[in-house]
Amino acid sequence: MSDTRSPHQKPFALFGPDFTFAYDDWLQHPAGLGQLPPTQHGTRVAIIGAGLAGLVCGHELMKMGLHPVVYEAGRLGGRLRSAVFDGSDGVIAELGGMRFPRSSRGFYHYVEQTGLHTAPFPNPLTEAAGSTVIELEGERFYARRLSDLPPLFQQVAAAYDQALEEQASFSALQEAIQQRDAAAVKAIWNPLVKDWDERTFYDFIASSRAFQQLSFRHREVFGQVGFGTGGWDSDFPNSMLEILRVNVTRCDEDQHLIIGGAEQLPQGLWQQPLQQAVHWPPGTSLQQLNQGAPRPAVRRIHRNDQGQLTLTDSRGHQESFAAVITTCQSWLLTTAIDTEENLFSQPLWMALDRTRYMQSAKTFVMTDRPFWKDKNPQTGEDCMSMTLTDRLTRGTYLFDQGDNRPGVICLSYAWMSDALKVLPLDAEKRVELALAALKKIYPDVDLASHIRGNPITVSWESDPNFLGAFKGALPGHYRYNQRMYSHFMQDQLPAGQRGLFLAGDDISWTPAWAEGAVQTALNAVWGVLHHLGGHTHPDNPGPGDCWHTWQPITLDN
Ligand code: FAD
Repeated sequence: MSDTRSPHQKPFALFGPDFTFAYDDWLQHPAGLGQLPPTQHGTRVAIIGAGLAGLVCGHELMKMGLHPVVYEAGRLGGRLRSAVFDGSDGVIAELGGMRFPRSSRGFYHYVEQTGLHTAPFPNPLTEAAGSTVIELEGERFYARRLSDLPPLFQQVAAAYDQALEEQASFSALQEAIQQRDAAAVKAIWNPLVKDWDERTFYDFIASSRAFQQLSFRHREVFGQVGFGTGGWDSDFPNSMLEILRVNVTRCDEDQHLIIGGAEQLPQGLWQQPLQQAVHWPPGTSLQQLNQGAPRPAVRRIHRNDQGQLTLTDSRGHQESFAAVITTCQSWLLTTAIDTEENLFSQPLWMALDRTRYMQSAKTFVMTDRPFWKDKNPQTGEDCMSMTLTDRLTRGTYLFDQGDNRPGVICLSYAWMSDALKVLPLDAEKRVELALAALKKIYPDVDLASHIRGNPITVSWESDPNFLGAFKGALPGHYRYNQRMYSHFMQDQLPAGQRGLFLAGDDISWTPAWAEGAVQTALNAVWGVLHHLGGHTHPDNPGPGDCWHTWQPITLDN
C-alpha cells in the first residue's frame, strides 16, 4: 500500500463524523484505558454475546482487573464466522465480515495485537481481483480497472463523485476527518444530519444535478455497480446518512481480508494470555477466567431486590452482577431474552425495537484449484473473474490461495430481496441456481467440474441468535441511533436504569462494519469503568470524558 501521508499526519481513521473521538489514540496510549479502585478488582461483570464487541469488552475489562463472565447462545465469534469446508485442511468460507477497510483503526489494533496477517481483498476492479466481469441486462464487460469499461461506467462514477461534492461537501469533510479536526468535521457534518436524516440514498442519487443530467440507465447501472464493492441498490431505501458515513470514512475502500479467517480475531481475544493485566497473574486469559467456555444463552435480565442486575441462563442458573453489557442484536432483547421493561426508558425501547436489520445470504464452494486464472484461448482473458451482475448471484468473489491449493468461490453474496429469494432453499439448491446464472455469463466454463466437497451457505436472518445480518437505518432513524449510541452516558439516568450497557455494531453509527462493534464496545468499557468508580488517566481521556464537547448533534423531537 502506498502511504501519501506527511510524517506528522496520523493515519486515516473512522473518526466521527457523528462522535469525533479518536478511539485508536485512546487504545494506543501508554497510560491505558483507565483505573479502578482496588476494591473493585475481581468484580464480576457479565457480557452477553461472545462476538467481537463482547470479546473486546471482556479483554479490556479483564486488563483493568475485572472478572468478565461471558454468555454465548451459539458459536463464539458471532458474525465473524469462518466455516471450514468438510474434509479440507482448514480451507474456509467467510460467512460474516470478510473485508475490513484500513480506516477501521480500532479493529486493526486488535488484529495486530492478536498477531494476525492480512491481504488485499479481491474487490471489483482492484489489483487483488485480477480481472472483473460486469454483466448487466445480458451485456458483458471484461475489465481490470475502471478505465477499461465503456464511458457509461465512468460517467456513473463521475456523477456520484459530483453528487457527493455538491450535496455533502465531500472533499472538505474527508479532509477534516483526515486531519482529525473535530470542529471542522462537526461544522460540515451536523447540517448534513439535518438535511439528510429523512431522505433516502435513492433520493440523493435521483435528485442530484449530476444524475439528473443522465439517463435512468445510469441510475440503474449505479445501483448494480455503484462504488467500491458494488451492488449498493439494496441500500437505496436506507437513510442517506448511513451511506455518507461509509463513503466519507473510506469504509468501502482499501479493504483487507484476514489470512486464515476473520474468526481468528474473536478466538484470539478469548484465548490470548495477558501479560499485563491488573490483579490477574501474568498469562491469564479470558478463556481461563471463564473456566474454558462461555456460559449458555441468557434468557432473562432483571433487577433483584438488592438492586443488582441478575441474569438467568438457558439452564435456569442465576447470577447477579455489578454491571452487564449486552452485545446481541437489539431485537433479541425482546424476542430471545425476557428483559425487564423498566431497565430501559420507553424512548430507548422504541429505538431498540425500530432498529431495522438487513438480510444477507452467501453461498460458497471449494474448488480443486484457482482454475479461473486459466486463459481463454480465443480472447486471452481469465476464464472467469470477480463478477458483478443483475442476475441472482449479484456478487461472485474468487479467493486464490496459491496455485497448488484449493480455491474458494463465493458464488453469491446477496442482500435484501436477493437474499430473500434463496431464504427457504438448501445449500445444494442455492448452488444449482448460482451455477445456472453463472453459466449464462461463462458458457464455456465447466465450473461444476472444479467443485470439491460440500457447499457452505448462510442466511443470517434465519438464525434465531441474529434475526438479520446487520442494521440498515431507515430515513428518520437518526434519533434512534443517537439514543442507543449515547446510552453508555448514564449519569442522568434514573438509578434503576444504570449498570446495563449496550454494545455491538447495531448500536453504532456504522452498522455492518466491525469497527462499529469495536467503538461501541469501547464506549461500554468506559461506561463500566465510570459506573464502578474508576477513571481514565488525565493524559488519555476516554469517550465519556470527551462526550460533552464532541457528542453527536441532537435533533428536535
Ligand atoms: P455479533 O457478532 O452478532 O455478536 C453478538 C453475539 O451475541 C452473537 O455471537 C450471538 O450468538 C450472541 N447472542 C445472541 N443472543 C444471545 C443470548 N440470548 N445470550 C447470549 N448470547 C447471545 N464488517 C466489516 O467490517 N467488513 C465486512 O466486510 C463485513 N461484512 C459483513 C457481512 C455479513 C454477511 C455480516 C452478517 C456482517 C458483516 N460485517 C462486516 C459486520 C461484522 O461482522 C460485525 O460488525 C461484527 O461481527 C459484529 O460483532 P458484534 O459483537 O457487534 O455482534
